[in-house]
Amino acid sequence: MIESDTPLQSSFNAIILGGGINGCGIARELGFRGKRALIVEKATIGSGTSSKSPRLIHGGLRYLKTFQFQLVRESLKDREELLKLYPHLVQMKLFYFPCYKQNSRTPFLIWMGLKLYDMFSGRSSEYPSKTISLEDFGQLIPSLKQDGLRKVFQYYDAKTNDLKLTKQVAKDAQLFGATIHKNTQTKNIYWVNNQFTLETDHETFSSQILINATGPWIDEVNKKYSFPAQYHIRKISGIHLMIKRLLTNYIMFMQTHGKRIFFIIPEPEENRTMIGTTEREENCPTDDVIINSKDINYMINNINYYLKPDYRISESDV
Ligand SMILES: Cc1cc2nc3c(=O)[nH]c(=O)nc-3n(C[C@H](O)[C@H](O)[C@H](O)COP(=O)(O)OP(=O)(O)OC[C@H]3O[C@@H](n4cnc5c(N)ncnc54)[C@H](O)[C@@H]3O)c2cc1C
Repeated sequence: MIESDTPLQSSFNAIILGGGINGCGIARELGFRGKRALIVEKATIGSGTSSKSPRLIHGGLRYLKTFQFQLVRESLKDREELLKLYPHLVQMKLFYFPCYKQNSRTPFLIWMGLKLYDMFSGRSSEYPSKTISLEDFGQLIPSLKQDGLRKVFQYYDAKTNDLKLTKQVAKDAQLFGATIHKNTQTKNIYWVNNQFTLETDHETFSSQILINATGPWIDEVNKKYSFPAQYHIRKISGIHLMIKRLLTNYIMFMQTHGKRIFFIIPEPEENRTMIGTTEREENCPTDDVIINSKDINYMINNINYYLKPDYRISESDV
């Protein structure tokens, strides 16, 4: 228990700035271990990047290419935990990985990667990856061209709804005793008498531990409150296009003209398809990051390259 001059209800084991998946996850873990956490969120839960992700709970298949085996193992372990904890929100889905002549990753490399992925997941008998015939692929995915298609692989990974998952984790954190203040502007934070004091317009909170979980705003928050910071973040933006119709019935792992990858993610319940993502370093304040038409055209060009003429998209479909 923390000793403090402030009333007991305002004193916490940890104050967490930011109610994204990280802030909520930390509060949940603290609660699980009997610690009282307070989340102070300037907007609503999950309104930051946690509701703008590809919505995949993947084990990091692409990290195998750079030999990040430990990261893949860890991610697959986390995927397993989420599948068990939130079966209504995280489910295994079928993915297809078509390999065209123009792509940099060869079929052999992809096959090796998928077999390693199966092995690391420990679920290879339940969810094995395999190749499927080009004819079967043509019937399953009629929108994608067959010219230049060399091989098609099928594998499994997990998908979720990121906003719903973040809100569920926040709810669990509350069940374990966390307090959440959303739409709350912090007026000041200072360190006095060996503890942090955080002031809002109406209340004052204190704790010996303050966690900055503000995601892409982290450096700006550190600067604003003069928190000493050993590390800084590099901000990378990535956009998803939401297309107002279904382009495929299954999730597709695609390769760009360069060496990047992108996903086509159908959302049948909403009759729409998500495509993404791009990757660009950002140096402006986080709130000033915008989507520009170059990003949109980049995604459109990449997907249209693979779509048969009748299925191609334009900016008006976005
Ligand atoms: C289901 C899911 C799948 C994902 N899949 C991928 C993936 O495939 N690939 C990938 O690279 N990433 C993925 N991500 C990661 C994701 O894109 C983000 O990196 C992640 O959501 C960051 O979470 P966060 O909590 O750190 O930040 P955020 O969600 O951005 O939360 C930060 C919060 O801080 C708040 N805040 C800002 N300033 C203040 C302040 N001064 N006071 C109080 N609050 C403040 C903001 O309003 C925001 O809500 C995924 C995330 C989820 C949830």
